Amino acid sequence: MHPIAQALTKFQTELQQRATLVAVSKTKPLEDLQIAYDQGQRVFGENKVQELQNKQPVMPDDTEWHMIGHLQRNKVKYIAPYISLIHGVDSLRLLNEIDKQGRKINRVIPCLLQVHIAQETTKFGLDIEEVRDILLTNGPEKWPFARIEGLMGMASLTDDKEQIRQEFRGLKELFDQLKAEGMFLHTLSMGMSGDYPIALEEGSTMVRIGSSIFGARNYT
Ligand SMILES: *Cc1c(COP(=O)(O)O)cnc(C)c1O
Repeated sequence: MHPIAQALTKFQTELQQRATLVAVSKTKPLEDLQIAYDQGQRVFGENKVQELQNKQPVMPDDTEWHMIGHLQRNKVKYIAPYISLIHGVDSLRLLNEIDKQGRKINRVIPCLLQVHIAQETTKFGLDIEEVRDILLTNGPEKWPFARIEGLMGMASLTDDKEQIRQEFRGLKELFDQLKAEGMFLHTLSMGMSGDYPIALEEGSTMVRIGSSIFGARNYT
């Protein structure tokens, strides 16, 4: 068995019904994606619009594409026709743009609000007040073509497992609170290769796994 197929099978078995597996295929060649596809994987995560544009037309039609990285507003129009989920909605202006592009082509685009949970200042995301403002003060019906299905967060890049756990726990608490206040949310995207076991313990419903499936990325 090919190492990619083998690693993927391990995750598929481990996750079962617990969480959706997003196979993060950024920087990887189409042959690698095809191996995963042949193993039954349908959901792929990419973080560059150009790369999505290159891969999407070539892979089978039932492949589901998730945009997991920071998305520039002027590029939303390119992926609007086919993207299955945008994980990184990190500003009101981006949310407005997604709604606008969805309206233009009459397609409702599923989205997650990215919440800033890490201590680092470099990670993108909304703060809790902004999330509450979007969902509770305005209400999701303000963006009928950008359907907010849940939240996404990235923990700090640290060896401190307790810190990672606290960050994920905080996001899960916000998720539960919003649901208790009447929001219809079902996806909590948290966990990557290095921290997904903690994320699952803290209530993740969707993990984004790249290097543990496809091997280390080479950016040169
Ligand atoms: C690259 C990336 C991942 C996957 O990271 P791995 O450590 O390779 O599993 C997950 N989420 C986001 C937002 C990413 O950019």
